[in-house]
Amino acid sequence: IDFEHCGFPEALNHNLKKSGYEVPTPIQMQMIPVGLLGRDILASADTGSGKTAAFLLPVIIRALSESETPSAVILTPTRELAIQIERQAKELMSGLPRMKTVLLVGGLPMPPQLHRLRQHVKVIIATPGRLLDIIKQNAVTLCGVKIVVVDEADTMLKMGFQQQVLDILENTPNDCQTILASATIPASIEQLASQLLCNPVRIIT
Ligand code: AMP
Repeated sequence: IDFEHCGFPEALNHNLKKSGYEVPTPIQMQMIPVGLLGRDILASADTGSGKTAAFLLPVIIRALSESETPSAVILTPTRELAIQIERQAKELMSGLPRMKTVLLVGGLPMPPQLHRLRQHVKVIIATPGRLLDIIKQNAVTLCGVKIVVVDEADTMLKMGFQQQVLDILENTPNDCQTILASATIPASIEQLASQLLCNPVRIIT
């Protein structure tokens, strides 16, 4: 398959081509169709595999068809990763209607993030601590969220973010689609997956 045959909107095909994405990587080949079906996913995926676009494309397609704001949340362990994900998301979303993103990460002032959040943002890209702070301040509600990504889950656990991730996901609807990506799948990730995922498709690369 190639991206042109996925039935994506014209603007998205254009953005993919412009970013130099012509042939999907193996993980994209596996994750995109399953993600578009709405299934939960447990993916073992390393940096460099193309995993970011593999979860961003299902997120974008889902968020495009929803009117709720926010309708998608991407959690990642560090500010730097969040910034990279947002950059890729913006490249892919360019020219698509009503597809604003917000970066909610620690180490940067909160007021501009809250200001942006109030502007009908579709996709939140966040580190767990900052998003949880904002939830606790009642500055966001996740009850309209349809798809959640937990990226670099093994790093999340190493950094001690497990409880924060669980607390955040407690604030999303029960039937929310969830994608868990992790470089490795040790027993601790299997356990987290059993708490977060419903009948997941496993994708190993
Ligand atoms: P990631 O593994 O998500 O960090 O992506 C690694 C790099 O590969 C990023 O710079 C992407 O822009 C690039 N990339 C991802 N998917 C593709 C693709 N299908 N074709 C060409 N480059 C890609």
